[in-house]
Amino acid sequence: MSLRDFITRLPKAELHVHHVGSASPRIVSELAARHPDAGVPSDLERLKEFFTFRDFAHFIDVYLAVVDLVRTPEDLRLLTYEVAREMAQGQNLRYAELTCTPYTSVVRGIPIQAYTEAIEDARVAAERDFGLVLRWIFDIPGESGIPAADATLDYALQHRTDALVGFGLAGPEIGVPRAQFTPHFDTARAAGLRSVPHAGETTGPETVWESVRLLGAERIGHGCSAAEDPELLAHLADAGIVLEVCPTSNIATRAVDRIEDHPLRTFVEAGVTVTINSDDPPMFATTLNNDYAVAAGLLDLDERGVADLAHAAVDASFAPDDVKARIGAEIEAYVAGFRRVATDTP
Ligand SMILES: [Zn+2]
Repeated sequence: MSLRDFITRLPKAELHVHHVGSASPRIVSELAARHPDAGVPSDLERLKEFFTFRDFAHFIDVYLAVVDLVRTPEDLRLLTYEVAREMAQGQNLRYAELTCTPYTSVVRGIPIQAYTEAIEDARVAAERDFGLVLRWIFDIPGESGIPAADATLDYALQHRTDALVGFGLAGPEIGVPRAQFTPHFDTARAAGLRSVPHAGETTGPETVWESVRLLGAERIGHGCSAAEDPELLAHLADAGIVLEVCPTSNIATRAVDRIEDHPLRTFVEAGVTVTINSDDPPMFATTLNNDYAVAAGLLDLDERGVADLAHAAVDASFAPDDVKARIGAEIEAYVAGFRRVATDTP
């Protein structure tokens, strides 16, 4: 079995993956057929062409086109359920924390009650039908500033479901100081939500420091520029703050110039806990399986090393303890089965 095959069949968890950003051409074609006036092709081949990653500006076009197709609670339910199907059936995921941006749907006319009902309906169905446990992270779209932060906090507190585990911050980092969101994160954390902002993707290590000191980050989305600051790396390692690394995304967004320059190895050598993630996989022409293979290449990992990456994601997740134990045991059973096959094969 090749390492790629091993990765494909390995039970996994994913912690940094966006809801709308996970819409595949197949899912978008269903949404486009529902809303022909949006001008998005519903023909799968044409959609695949539209999805082909060209540059960051085109990625934003694709992302916004999909945002515009999610117009009703039923669209949201379909998107969420079908994303879950692809996670379970394509990537062998057992657990995922899906980052949702309810603000962008609410400003487009879906009331927050209908929003949470739709994603919850899909979550329950996905667990029943695909054995995938889903949890939510509500994130602030940073470019929309304080009004979006106020609204997102309100959704998280007033429309909380048991499946909401985290509070995040995404969007551009340049010109969006982290400090302004300190009160929102303080309140969210006081209500038991875990702090998981993006930081250090397109700005320097100071943004990661701010996220740790001002936002109480327990995990950092990306954190690429932390590699430039040994003191920060030591702090992340000592405090057990986890990096959600998204190798292919980092190349697509030019957070990192070339894959051979990716700081993943620097993180690991500094003792920082890393997890591997796909961010917006269809839009960056990747999959979680592919990102594991890229990470294995960067870290020279064998099957055991790859399985340890899968464990790291389970351990760093906010899943219930019984779910963590179940997936951890499943990973080990899979590794043991692989070893038996490897030993039996002459
Ligand atoms: Zn992200």
